[in-house]
Amino acid sequence: MQLKDKVAVITGSASGIGKEIAQEYAKEGAKVVIADLVLEAAVKTAEEIKAAGGQAIGVAMNVTDEAQVDKGIADAVAAFGGIDILISNAGIQIISPVVDLSLDNWKKMLAIHLDGAFLTTRACMREMVKGGKGGSIIYMGSVHSHEGSPLKAPYVAAKHGLVGLAKVVAKEGAKDKIRANVICPGFVRTPLVDKQIPEQAKELNISEEDVIRKVMLKDTVDGEFTTVADVARTAIFLAAFPTNALTGQSIVVSHGWFMQ
Ligand code: NAD
Repeated sequence: MQLKDKVAVITGSASGIGKEIAQEYAKEGAKVVIADLVLEAAVKTAEEIKAAGGQAIGVAMNVTDEAQVDKGIADAVAAFGGIDILISNAGIQIISPVVDLSLDNWKKMLAIHLDGAFLTTRACMREMVKGGKGGSIIYMGSVHSHEGSPLKAPYVAAKHGLVGLAKVVAKEGAKDKIRANVICPGFVRTPLVDKQIPEQAKELNISEEDVIRKVMLKDTVDGEFTTVADVARTAIFLAAFPTNALTGQSIVVSHGWFMQ
């Protein structure tokens, strides 16, 4: 077991990539905190993990809300005694050309991806420093942390921003053995992607099949989607890494769509 007794807070983990990471972390011995918008959904995921033999709790947390973040992290510490790992994963997608994008939607995207990453980092880092055992902070970036795509301006801007945040947290956290890294997946079939396939088809006036083959997977080496399992495997590797040697980095898991 690579994460035995490590306490891992995973935001947006009632669905998709975050849920898979939570399940795989629990199998590796971690005590996982399912932090998501709706308490019932978070608790349901935690119950599924417990039924499979893992340790988990569910907490309600809108990552853009300072008080909810601080309370969720305090509840996690009360339940499990500290924080060792944060996966800042909660996210949404909004499809729109820049010229049609409302300021509200721009702000909403930056709030969930960047304010959320900051607030959860601050709360967890404080606990990691207090605990004195170091920690691992992992941001869910994207190939869009390095590349741009039409119709995704605020998403691409926010995902690039996470790389900058990780570099600063890596430098500030080093003295306390707190590492910060970014995972940058290619397209993964989750509700977030399934929703945007018809939206992109409409905006681009092409079929849904063409959105998949000619937009999403066009630049991969093999025309394949990245999977939730691929991302979870990378998240285990990063969290289990034992020294400060691997910090301030972004790892791209995208079937070669983007090569750094
Ligand atoms: P998903 O829609 O399956 O899951 C996202 C989760 O985040 C949901 O459970 C949702 O309730 C939660 N969430 C949304 N807003 C929140 C908020 N304000 N506070 C707390 N939780 C909130 O999507 P996913 O594909 O699993 O995406 C997870 C992360 O991975 C996102 O950051 C996304 O940008 C990133 N990502 C996804 C892909 C992909 O192709 N699916 C690729 C690269 C990166």
